[in-house]
Amino acid sequence: MADVLATRRHLHQFPEIGLSEFKTSDYVADRLQALGYAVTRGLAGTGVVATLRHGDSPRSIGIRADFDALPILEETGLDYASKVPGVMHACGHDGHTAMLLGAAQILAERRNFDGTIHLIFQPAEENFGGARLMIEDGLFEKFPCDAVFALHNDPDITFGHIAVREGPIMAAIDECKITVNGRGGHGAEPQSTADPIVCGASIIMALQTIVSRNIHPLDPSVITVGGFHAGAASNVIPERAEMVLSIRSFDAKVRDQLEQRIRAVAEGQAASYGMGVTIDYQRGYNATINHKAETDFVRDLAVSFAGADKVFDLPRPMMGSEDFAYMLTERPGSYFFLGTKRTENDPPLHHPRYDFNDDALPIGTTFWVELAERYLQAS
Ligand SMILES: [Zn+2]
Ligand SMILES: [Zn+2]
Repeated sequence: MADVLATRRHLHQFPEIGLSEFKTSDYVADRLQALGYAVTRGLAGTGVVATLRHGDSPRSIGIRADFDALPILEETGLDYASKVPGVMHACGHDGHTAMLLGAAQILAERRNFDGTIHLIFQPAEENFGGARLMIEDGLFEKFPCDAVFALHNDPDITFGHIAVREGPIMAAIDECKITVNGRGGHGAEPQSTADPIVCGASIIMALQTIVSRNIHPLDPSVITVGGFHAGAASNVIPERAEMVLSIRSFDAKVRDQLEQRIRAVAEGQAASYGMGVTIDYQRGYNATINHKAETDFVRDLAVSFAGADKVFDLPRPMMGSEDFAYMLTERPGSYFFLGTKRTENDPPLHHPRYDFNDDALPIGTTFWVELAERYLQAS
């Protein structure tokens, strides 16, 4: 497993942003080629699929690791910290990729399975939906998979524990930019202006009633106003105000309802102030919905692998988002979490001091080997 650690730390030093993971893609492809895999490159630009066949069973499995990094300036001070200023593996995708490469090696050495393994190394999980782009490039036509699996490290979950969930596990994400179009002027003469700041403040407050008053209390959803930008000087009423929203949901009808209500609230509030709004509403990743049989399979394996006391079903889905959703729309499968907690005060994912917990590398590596071998059990 020393190799897996070295791989992880190498990847950590050379992070690349989604869809420009050229060096990472080369590195991964070269490694897999040397292990004897049939390697296909270029799906979604930088995506890599490595295929290994053994025996004559028509069965097949896909395992996905993501390999993109984030636009964050690393502050860990580690001796293997990012050598690329402003780019950082702050979500542990370096760990995910290292574990799947480690598993690739063991699977190729042991050849203890009957069927076809497709290892899917995916770009751009964080931003451009690399999973969807790989599917559009023919991922599952070129590499038919009976089922697909993926894991994510989680520094909030006890080390070595495995968290699964049948059905919804990660939310759909949409983004919306609302621009309030006012009429600027002198701060001392508000009666001669249409103040977009006051109107914008009303919109923000009214948006808070959508989840609490319009959406069913048992349908999880979030509307966060993550940015509000207007004006610069105390004595100037600006021409416009802008706000940016992040919207999370699971149910497709709720997702539509959220958009419809956000538009109605923004337009209605603005109209009451005699102003108009421009709304740019962008649908992002769909909700990640795990399939039952494959989730049962992961849970059963996890129990025999780690012990029942280390395996649990998440009581509720997470409100974060994940583009593995698109693979689960195309194929049955399951997405789950591997606990990597060090201490109660671990920096969270996407934090400039986050660092993937290397102690989890042998666990994830071995788990992938066992998962593939059990799924394609040689009779
Ligand atoms: Zn992330
Ligand atoms: Zn991630």
